[in-house]
Amino acid sequence: MTQKYVYFFGNGQAEGRAEMKNLLGGKGANLAEMTSIGLPVPPGFTITTEVCTEFYKNNQTYPESLTSAVAENLKMVEALMDRRFGDPRNPLLVSVRSGARASMPGMMDTILNLGLNDTTVQGIIAQSGDERFAFDAYRRFVQMYSDVVMGMEKDILEHLLEQKKEQRGVHLDTDLTAADWKELVGSFKLKIKEELGKDFPEDPHEQLWGAIGAVFGSWMNQRAITYRKLNNIPADWGTAVNVQSMVFGNMGDDCATGVAFTRDPSTGENYFFGEFLVNAQGEDVVAGIRTPQPINRVKDKDGKLPSMEEVLPECYRQLVDIRGILEKHYKDMQDIEFTIEKGKLFMLQTRNGKRTAPAAIKIAVDMEKEGLIDEKEAVLRVQPSQLDQLLHPSLDPAAEKQVIAKGLPASPGAVSGQVVFSADEAEAEAKLGKKVILVRIETSPEDIHGMHASQGILTARGGMTSHAAVVARGMGKCCVAGCGDIKVSYAGESFVARNGVVVKKGDTITLDGSCGEVMLGAVPTVAPVLTGDFAQLMSWVDTYRKLKVRANADTPHDSRVARQFGAEGIGLCRTEHMFFEAERISAVREMILSEELEGREKALAKILPMQKGDFIGIFREMKGLPVTIRLLDPPLHEFLPQEEKDLEELSKTMKVPVGTLKHKVESLHEFNPMLGHRGCRLGITYPEIYDMQVRAIMEAACELVKNEGFSIVPEIMIPLIATARELQVLKQNAVAICNEVIARYDVRLEYLIGTMIELPRAALTADEIAVEAEFFSFGTNDLTQTTFGLSRDDAGKFLPFYVDNGILAEDPFVSLDQNGVGQLVKMAAERGRATRRDIKLGICGEHGGDPSSVIFCHKIGLDYVSCSPFRVPIARLAAAHAALS
Ligand code: ADP
Ligand code: MG
Ligand code: MG
Repeated sequence: MTQKYVYFFGNGQAEGRAEMKNLLGGKGANLAEMTSIGLPVPPGFTITTEVCTEFYKNNQTYPESLTSAVAENLKMVEALMDRRFGDPRNPLLVSVRSGARASMPGMMDTILNLGLNDTTVQGIIAQSGDERFAFDAYRRFVQMYSDVVMGMEKDILEHLLEQKKEQRGVHLDTDLTAADWKELVGSFKLKIKEELGKDFPEDPHEQLWGAIGAVFGSWMNQRAITYRKLNNIPADWGTAVNVQSMVFGNMGDDCATGVAFTRDPSTGENYFFGEFLVNAQGEDVVAGIRTPQPINRVKDKDGKLPSMEEVLPECYRQLVDIRGILEKHYKDMQDIEFTIEKGKLFMLQTRNGKRTAPAAIKIAVDMEKEGLIDEKEAVLRVQPSQLDQLLHPSLDPAAEKQVIAKGLPASPGAVSGQVVFSADEAEAEAKLGKKVILVRIETSPEDIHGMHASQGILTARGGMTSHAAVVARGMGKCCVAGCGDIKVSYAGESFVARNGVVVKKGDTITLDGSCGEVMLGAVPTVAPVLTGDFAQLMSWVDTYRKLKVRANADTPHDSRVARQFGAEGIGLCRTEHMFFEAERISAVREMILSEELEGREKALAKILPMQKGDFIGIFREMKGLPVTIRLLDPPLHEFLPQEEKDLEELSKTMKVPVGTLKHKVESLHEFNPMLGHRGCRLGITYPEIYDMQVRAIMEAACELVKNEGFSIVPEIMIPLIATARELQVLKQNAVAICNEVIARYDVRLEYLIGTMIELPRAALTADEIAVEAEFFSFGTNDLTQTTFGLSRDDAGKFLPFYVDNGILAEDPFVSLDQNGVGQLVKMAAERGRATRRDIKLGICGEHGGDPSSVIFCHKIGLDYVSCSPFRVPIARLAAAHAALS
């Protein structure tokens, strides 16, 4: 049997169906579907995507049987339309439209009115009795065809048209007469010949095959290739070609063309939303040449332009019926294109409409209530990544804004505040109740307190995984990073933006972390709404998901936010963030810089009550939900002063000469701190540090149990374990302290001691480590660094290039590398469970909030994921998607 390359649709019958998108493209499949459910669709046929694939496989030649298949289908269209292609008296005109599986703006523009030439135009005149219409259609065809198929510069013909209007002393295309258009067709053709050295094709069949070839050719044009790359569309999908008989929206005042959505795509409200133009063709509505009119008055109560409901009431009623039929049939909001020819309505396209995040939620919840879809389907209708938009305040869409620079959208949200240029200043100003925006060339761990105190962060350098970006996302703070448009001068306490706009300390700016824009002044924002439809959807989400979702939170405030977003515990509480706070950092430094155990213990004794206070605050907020606390992890030099004046101050408190301190700071320098003296290696060499932390955790828990009747099971987590022996030693120390504290308080308290799996050796020996560990938390940030052997802080130089050039499909710090790092996680989970059947397994780190990584965690059977508080709803939804699909 020969392969079928062409699918017919017309007169209630279609060879294709909506499910055949892969073969017929989205447009072709839905034209077929609309035809077979009885909607008025001009007849035509679809050349399959397979032809496109074969075309490129076989050196840009068509399959043999294609010519005859096209000819046969064209005959069927002629029969239905009672017209013939190329017939001088009764010509059939067609449109040639591209259409891939996914809608692709990079593809070829549609060609309308194909089949016109100097002879057939006479037939159109004779039949329509409208010479102006006929020549207008003809000149449009010559313009589109010469541009799209022949590669003629658009502007050249557009310029001739402008000249004509000038010469005739008119402003609008609609003021030109039949004779004008006729003349223009002639001069267009001459110009084409002059520019390209070839004639405009007169033969309709040559025109048709030229257009088909242009559609397939456009699959490999630069625009399309770029679009596919950005949207992960494989090149071998190919595009289909739709050839369809023309209907005309431009034959007079009983004609029109329009586009509509079956519900409002920006709010999701259930009313018919759309625009149309009387006496217009094709893309006139979206081209902005004339102001389109609303299809009804639902929203635009006292608008001046007449609505379709008013001027074409019969067609409007019919369109409303079709709206209902389409929604019942597709069970989703549709985006439609239609044309009215002499009072008769035709459907030219339908597809599931794109929508904003709030609209996606409203439509899903409404459609469940209306009985169109069930709860599970409603959950699947909202994409986890869409929620990001929703969980932060956003700019008021109605507000005016003056954009002065654009950087990377590193962490979403919209905030305004006064500009400051240092972390200390940020903190000081914030204490005075001011809202500030921290502007830095780059940030470093020393700036954390300032980042905390600011509304948002703007950096001139660094990528999506720079320190500023990662920390800001973790805090749920708005951040625009790598903003090359600004030049920061710390000395001048100012930065220069586009067009030389100078912003000084104290000036107000607004950041939009969702699109990377920086604006002058305070642009009003609107708060996220987490009640109503959102809450309804999330309650369904929680019924269907299996994976638990915790949050990474280091403070009582973040813990509260996490719970509001539905976190079921804390998966990672980093104790070092607490060390950076103003009064504490000097005690921490004192501890690090003491030569003797005695000095360290003295400093630790100052820190203990502060840490204990933090833990009490966090346990209280979490109301008995599990909390995993990680003992000190980063290399000590991160806490050390860099500035002379800090060293001097410290030398006074410690009563040690500045020179000695400087020497000590230098001695702590490491060539590769990421792989240096950090994590459990600190706990092994300075046991007193971990002892203090364990004591703080246990005393906090015991006090709450004793005084407030809390039930808590603290989870103590030891980072960067490489060998079982390390954990054995540290667990022994910790257990001793735990037992001592519990005995002292005389309470009943269970606790767990576990570890992070973040080094390949730990994953490989997970069976041995699980002998000691009561839980594993996969630290996938470090595990990615150590598995790839790349440092995140240095990856900015090559990782973006890798991703742009397809050497890596995705940034492995954003989305878990399932084939590499993921295999270590999976193996360690299995080995851990083999040793200890009830071992608790989870992941923390950026990946816990990445939808595809969450789905992976579900598949390999982890118990929970943990992510930053603002990503908790995203992870919950992703977990539900994983369970439902
Ligand atoms: P896109 O993929 O860019 O939406 P389409 O193939 O849908 O391009 O064509 C754009 C517009 O051209 C349609 O919305 C419709 O107004 C017009 N059009 C396409 N085919 C026909 C036709 N057979 N008759 C009348 N108008 C058509
Ligand atoms: Mg379209
Ligand atoms: Mg780590």
